[in-house]
Amino acid sequence: MNRILIIEDEVKTANSIKQGLEENSFLTETAYDGNSGLRLARKGNYDLIICDVILPGQNGKEICRSLRAEQIHTPVLMLTALNSVSDKLEGFDSGVDDYLSKPFEFRELLARVRALLKRHPQIVQTATILKCADLELNLDTRKAVRSGRTIDLTLKEFALLEYFMQHANRVLSKAELAERVWGIDFDTGTNVIEVYVNYLRKKLEAEGAPRLIHTEFGMGYILKDQA
Ligand code: CA
Repeated sequence: MNRILIIEDEVKTANSIKQGLEENSFLTETAYDGNSGLRLARKGNYDLIICDVILPGQNGKEICRSLRAEQIHTPVLMLTALNSVSDKLEGFDSGVDDYLSKPFEFRELLARVRALLKRHPQIVQTATILKCADLELNLDTRKAVRSGRTIDLTLKEFALLEYFMQHANRVLSKAELAERVWGIDFDTGTNVIEVYVNYLRKKLEAEGAPRLIHTEFGMGYILKDQA
């Protein structure tokens, strides 16, 4: 499955792109500002980045320029409200691979995404394995292993654990988890996060393995590599 990073500060647009891509069997991750987008783009194992131009923090062109300067050649599809030729030329100059002007229809975005992926099939991704204590998560094979024991996870459990592992040793609020993993606005009435954290704990702590996901009372959860 192809992994796509979406960097877009309009939450509604970001979420509708995410939803559409997931319905078409892409794996996605979302950043809502330039700085976290760049951070993810640097370490993530993505096949494509969809990036808005105007973002809080670094803008789309700056992100693209930084990635290219660091020899990261993940194709970038830039979303822009600007439609002038000079803006586009400046963007191509910074290493953008293609443009899509807002507003667009999702099927056009999908066609551009597929075309870009076709043009860049030769990108060989090295296996990305996230580690925390004795837990390993392989993002290519989508496998979780703890102390040699394979853990079967559902898609959502995997996505939640991946998010925890990418942000290990940091307290994550329920609002952040709701927004980043579920793509929903956190509504205090929902207990979906607690439910999924409990599913994960049950699976991770089988056979008496020590707890990795801890509750920070009144704040959220933290994945820690030591007790
Ligand atoms: Ca924007």
